[in-house]
Amino acid sequence: MRTPIIAGNWKMNNTIAQGKRLIEEIKSGKIKEGVEAVLCVPYTLIQGAKGYVEDTDIKIGAQNVHWEENGAFTGEVSPVMLKELEVDYVIIGHSERRQYFNETDKTVNLKVKAAIKEGITPIVCVGETLEQREEGVHIDLVKNQVIEAFEGVVEEAVANLVIAYEPIWAIGTGKTATSDQAEEMCRLIRETIESIYDIKTAQAVRIQYGGSVKPDNIVELMEKENIDGALVGGASLKAEDFLKLLNY
Ligand code: 13P
Repeated sequence: MRTPIIAGNWKMNNTIAQGKRLIEEIKSGKIKEGVEAVLCVPYTLIQGAKGYVEDTDIKIGAQNVHWEENGAFTGEVSPVMLKELEVDYVIIGHSERRQYFNETDKTVNLKVKAAIKEGITPIVCVGETLEQREEGVHIDLVKNQVIEAFEGVVEEAVANLVIAYEPIWAIGTGKTATSDQAEEMCRLIRETIESIYDIKTAQAVRIQYGGSVKPDNIVELMEKENIDGALVGGASLKAEDFLKLLNY
């Protein structure tokens, strides 16, 4: 049985004061038994957030990481630095980073390996644009993103990590993939992991869907066999909505 994992990706939102308030509101609600809750917060909030969730089971994640341990990389944060903050998860390869900050399959792979080395669990994002889906290349593209992300990644690490299928056309657009479309792609991702590793690893890896996940569509998505959770943007910024997702 895979533990469901609902993660909020706050993106570039919330000051320290706003983040503290939001976490306090989330903490005042309950979380469904057996559901793992994660908040991927801006770097400036990581240390504070770790403290605010100390007395709970909520995990804290970062939204990006560099692959080098240190060096002349102005503006970057290394996996060693994140480890020092005891970050549990790190989002790697989010489509916004691929789109605006030149993230490539190659850098995703370097980051995945670097995070694993420091004991931080990657949430590896893959997904196609609307054009790619309309051209019918989305299957090959996502398969390839997975293959490249995991190049040289040791089997033992893969079973514990998380992959998020996030079709770019569904992010922040209010346009959710249907649960069947999401399931089809999450199954494809699991089959791809099986083809690289083995069935045991494929059955263990957790796969999230992301893209306009809301209280009114989470149940249908979570009923699908290959969808183990959600990576949530907009709806994770309101405690009321996020709590509904955590109690789907
Ligand atoms: P929305 O939930 O706002 O569509 O964002 C999805 C996302 O990008 C999560 O990483």
